[in-house]
Amino acid sequence: MSEGRAQARVNVAAIERNCARLCSQLRSGAELCAVVKADGYGHGAVQSARGALAGGATWLAVAGSHEARELRDAGLNERVLVMGALTMVELEEALASDADVVVWNQHYLQAVVAAGGGRVHVKLDSGMGRLGTRDPAEASRLAAVARDTPGVRLSGLMTHFATADDLADDGFFAGQLATFMDWAQPLKDDDPDLVVHAANSAAMLRDADSQLDMVRCGIAVYGMDPFGRDPAARGLEPALELSTYVADVKDTKQGESAGYGRRFIAEHDTFVGVLPIGYGDGWRRGLSNNADVLVAGHRYPLVGTVSMDNITVDLGLDPNARGLRGERAILIGFQGSERITAEEVARRLDTINYEVTCGLTPRIPRTYHRDGTPIDVAATPAPTRTVDTSPT
Ligand SMILES: *Cc1c(COP(=O)(O)O)cnc(C)c1O
Repeated sequence: MSEGRAQARVNVAAIERNCARLCSQLRSGAELCAVVKADGYGHGAVQSARGALAGGATWLAVAGSHEARELRDAGLNERVLVMGALTMVELEEALASDADVVVWNQHYLQAVVAAGGGRVHVKLDSGMGRLGTRDPAEASRLAAVARDTPGVRLSGLMTHFATADDLADDGFFAGQLATFMDWAQPLKDDDPDLVVHAANSAAMLRDADSQLDMVRCGIAVYGMDPFGRDPAARGLEPALELSTYVADVKDTKQGESAGYGRRFIAEHDTFVGVLPIGYGDGWRRGLSNNADVLVAGHRYPLVGTVSMDNITVDLGLDPNARGLRGERAILIGFQGSERITAEEVARRLDTINYEVTCGLTPRIPRTYHRDGTPIDVAATPAPTRTVDTSPT
């Protein structure tokens, strides 16, 4: 086994199928923009993007300029939308990477002009209370200025929902969509080429009316459920498997403890497995005495404190437990008929699945496969188009 202490294996074919499934649920004419920010939600941006594009996505989106550049450096030449706030230096990098950027005030639009122009999307804050202008008149003015400024191309109109993942809410979500459409529709009527977009994964799945010209899906692309439920119920396949192995099995007598602070003390004689993964890998300390691990097709409780590099697992009293030394252990993924999802881990941590995969640190090597066939990342095709990203 060429695997090391702990690793994430990402099935690019699952990403492809998730995207194909999302595309099949789109209203005709709507496009899928795959959001690959934060290194593809911890899965790896470039490989995730390739899978998403193979599955039918036509746009990519990221938060920062260096993320756009990473996609270009890998030879991806599809439209890329940089959604986040950018400093002048970052704006220049984004535009040099031939990405679309988002504007919501005059100052920012002038910065685009100063950086040599480019394609912009005007963002209305219809209720998120974050990026974007709350003032539709200001947003319309910006759209007009963008359209009339040489070198600047007004290519989209957008907003972002605050409560799309909260199925108990209808009013606020519907209100945001109405506010956005009241502003965007007349502009779209004037210029049918504008790409009007609002929906994230949760919005596109809950309300087809929010799909408009394009949806910006992240979490669902990776096979996780935006509502924190079982992704399988929506036909989504988790693409990431997190695994380690049983490095040692300790004969543990009643009253003996495992780990820092002695937060596990054996109530009876048992075998404790030691697995080399910890919070230094993103397997959070909040999972102390609060997670399960799959070994040889069975679920075992993580016991004691998660430390930086190791966890301990109660393998029980069965003398066969000794033989589990060297076995693969699954922290997120399938084994036999057992399954641990990022949603389960998130629930235990009182957080969301997004944070579970984004939180895996660079110490976890990511490897890629298509339904079990390894992908040689180093041998991926050379760039088909070179974007000039040299500083000017
Ligand atoms: C991250 C992000 C998305 C994707 O959201 P998901 O819930 O992962 O689908 C869409 N739009 C914006 C503006 C974002 O920041």
